[in-house]
Parts: sequence; C-alpha cells; structure tokens
Amino acid sequence: MIHRSSMLLGLVALTLFGSIASAEKDQRPNILFVFSDDHGYQALSCYGSKVNETPNLDRIANEGMRFDRCFVTNSICGPSRAVILTGKYSHLNGFVRNGNRFNGQQQTVSKLLQAAGYQTAIVGKWHLETDPTGFDYWHILQGQGPYYNPAMDTPDGVVKHTGYTTEIITDLALDWLKNKRDADKPFYLMYQHKAPHRNWQPGPKQLNNYDDVTIPEPETLFDDYSHRASPARNQEMTVERHLSPNDLKLVPQRGLTDEQRKAWDEAYGPKNEAFEKLNLTGKDLVQWKYQRYAKDYLRCVDAVDENVGRVLDYLDETGLAENTVVIYSSDQGWYLGEHGWFDKRWMYEESFRTPLMVRWPGKVKPGTVSDAMVMNLDFPELFLEIAGETVPDDMQGRSFKQILLGEMPDDWRKSVYYHYYEFPGAHSVAKHYGVRTDRHKLIYYYDLDEWELFDLEKDPRELRSVYDQAEYAAVRKDLEAELQRLRDQYKDDGSVVQFQNQNTKQKKRKRV
Ligand code: CA
Repeated sequence: MIHRSSMLLGLVALTLFGSIASAEKDQRPNILFVFSDDHGYQALSCYGSKVNETPNLDRIANEGMRFDRCFVTNSICGPSRAVILTGKYSHLNGFVRNGNRFNGQQQTVSKLLQAAGYQTAIVGKWHLETDPTGFDYWHILQGQGPYYNPAMDTPDGVVKHTGYTTEIITDLALDWLKNKRDADKPFYLMYQHKAPHRNWQPGPKQLNNYDDVTIPEPETLFDDYSHRASPARNQEMTVERHLSPNDLKLVPQRGLTDEQRKAWDEAYGPKNEAFEKLNLTGKDLVQWKYQRYAKDYLRCVDAVDENVGRVLDYLDETGLAENTVVIYSSDQGWYLGEHGWFDKRWMYEESFRTPLMVRWPGKVKPGTVSDAMVMNLDFPELFLEIAGETVPDDMQGRSFKQILLGEMPDDWRKSVYYHYYEFPGAHSVAKHYGVRTDRHKLIYYYDLDEWELFDLEKDPRELRSVYDQAEYAAVRKDLEAELQRLRDQYKDDGSVVQFQNQNTKQKKRKRV
C-alpha cells in the first residue's frame, strides 16, 4: 500500500514537473503605457497638427487606433494620474487637486497586475507625493522634476542624474526593458515623461528647432471671453499677462551644468537681443509671446517624440513589439494659445480631451480611428482586460478592448461626466462640473451658481454659451437630468473621500 502510494506520488511529481518544464512562456501581452504631461492633441501630427510633426508618435496611430474623443475626469496632473491608477473619480480616490497625497494603500491597477503575475515598473514622472505601490521597480522624479539634471527617487535612495530629463527617463525605460525585466513574465511598464509641462525647457538637441519658422496662431488667440459665464474672464492663464519672464526664458535658467548653460546662452542670447530691439506692445507683444511660448513647448514635444521613437525601435529590434500593447496618452489636453491661454483645467475641449493612440499588433487594425467617448477612467479596466483579469466592480470606467478590436458595444456611454476642484489655486480656474454629450456640453460653476451651455455642432470652439436662449430650454432640461444621473452613477454628492491611513508617506532619502 505504502509502496503503491509513493509510486503514485512519484508519478504525480513527474507529471507536474513535466508540465512545468514544458509549460509555454506566459503569452499574455505586455503593456507599455507611454505617458506625457500636458501634451495637447493639437501638437500631434496624427491629430492633424498645424504646428509640428511627430513622426514617431504618429507610428502608434498609423499602426494602431487613434481616439478622437478621449476625455479626462479632472483636467490636472496629479488627479489624472490617480484616476488612471484606480479607475475611480477624484472624489473616491481622494486625490482631487495637485498637492494632495495619494493613498497607495487603496486598490490600484499596478497591484492587480502584479498579483496577476505581471512584472510591473514605473519610470519618470509620478507626482503623487507618496511612494509608488504595486511596482516591482520604480525610479521616479521628485514632484514635478526639472528638465535638466534631475534627482530621482528609488526604493534604495536618491539617484542624481546629469542630462536632459526626457532622455534620462527613456534611458531608464530602456535599461529596465533590457536588463531588469524578467523575460518569463509579461510586463506592465509605465514610461512617463515630465515634458512638455511648464516651463518648457528644450533639450540640448532641440534648442534651435523652429528658429526660422512662424508658428500658426490658433483662431481663438484673441478671445475676449464675452458670451460666457464669468470664470473664463477671471482666470489667470493668458499668454498676454500670465507667462513669467522665466517661462519666456528672459532670465538665466537655473540648475544647468556649465556645458548646458553654454548651449543655452548660444541659443537664447541672440533670441533675447531680438526681443529687446523690438519694443513691442499690445497685440504685437501677445503674438511675440505666443511664438516664444509655442516654440519652446514644441521643442519639448520634439524630444518626447524622438525618445519614444527610441523605445519603439527597441521593441522592433527585439521582436517584443509583436506581443506588446503600446498606449500613448497625456494626463490631459492643453491650450496652445486657444482662448488666449496656456495650461489646462477647463472642461472646454482643448483640455478636457486628451490624445490617445493604441497599437496592438494582430488585434487592432492599423490606421483606424474611433470617435467613441472613452476616458482616462477606462485605462486601468482596459489594462486588466488585456491581461485577462476580471475588472473589480468598484472601478468606475469600462474597458474599451472591444472597441479596439473593431466592435462598438451597443450600450457604450453616450455622455461624459467631469469635475474640477482646484480653486483657489494656480491660474484661478473656478470649480466646475458638467456633462458632455455628442453635441452639447453643460457646465456648472457651482460656487458661483453660473452655468454655460454649448452647442458643439454650431460652436465647436465654445465661444458662445446658449444657456439662456429659449430655443435651448428643452436641451438644457435634458442635460440637467443627465448631469444628475451621472452624479448619482459615479456617487459624486460633493463630498470627497478622506483617507486617514497614509503609511506610504514618502520619506526623505539618502543619495545612493
Ligand atoms: Ca499635466
């Protein structure tokens, strides 16, 4: 009896061993999430940019799907990142405005993918104040991080880098892919740029890009904010009055090495001389500032494009591209002079919409475009579904994998809910929430009790609110009902979840 059972045990052991030895490598797709900060779709040639070319980023769209209506729930840096980790609106993940601290003890997509057997990593901008959780590897900028010579946090301590941050983050992503990755596991890599966030310091290779060209101005550069509620007039984010001397590179840039400073002085010295001689005022000065600002912004985008190209090339060279889903997006959209502005925050289209391109070889038809209303709220659900995992019930978005595969679900959302909180705060944009449907947008500035309603078909640039017009009374009533329905659905009753226990608080680290 004993003899027989031990033989049996041996057989079982042999079978088990055999099955492990012959087991196929885990074939689930890798997920490479390429993320930038403040990259508006107006500055991507795959979205029809009139101001620049982004050949490398365009590859993702040309070889995959471009989404023309991807929206964010709250158009500001930290909150968008928290939404993408949790699949929950700001009031439920607790990170409603920059300066909040992310509670890393809550459920996140990185933890769920890690538990599902994915190797997880994040390099670059994090901006959530507490240490990353759910990542096997992390190497992140401190706060916003500088454009040059960043000190970066790792679990082992601070690492001081010398060079241009966009290139350094890319080097770190490539180093992780080449040397730190477990080739037997699928990976989830968040490769996240600081660029092209303010104050738009170009890299050494891009300092002179656009020197000899005039960037076309947006049609709404000289918006006078009439026909809208008061917040549009009372913000502090105009090209005309709110760009600082530092933004415009009229003062020496700090934190550069001697060599970097020399390159800067060579590039910006002559540009400054030109300005001093001009003695501009009025519209001419606004136009000069716009050129100055837009060119620096686009130079930063150029570096992102080039560096993402390096990573795409690596995926091609190693064959990894075949089984890797590449996603490109930004934490929100951006005003490249539209409405006379820089920055983001509003529920107006330029900042409410964000770029999204997804490449998935063999699954997503190359060169396809979707106008489905997807959101950053849907990203973690998508990543989980790509990994074959169940999406937790308390995530509030929905995976759009089916849309990627070319099928539009009949019951896909027909409206999007938005809520912005950061007031008082930088740029003085009033708190607001609202709903956007295919054709209309209703915005409520609740602290001021002011409303706006836009007919996006007749007024795509959102220059004239029709809230008070009698012929829109029925539309207004429908939208108000839809807004309330969405507030109920997303459990937004105006209160914000406050997390008491934040043991993941970032510690001061020693340099390593
Ligand atoms: Ca941002």
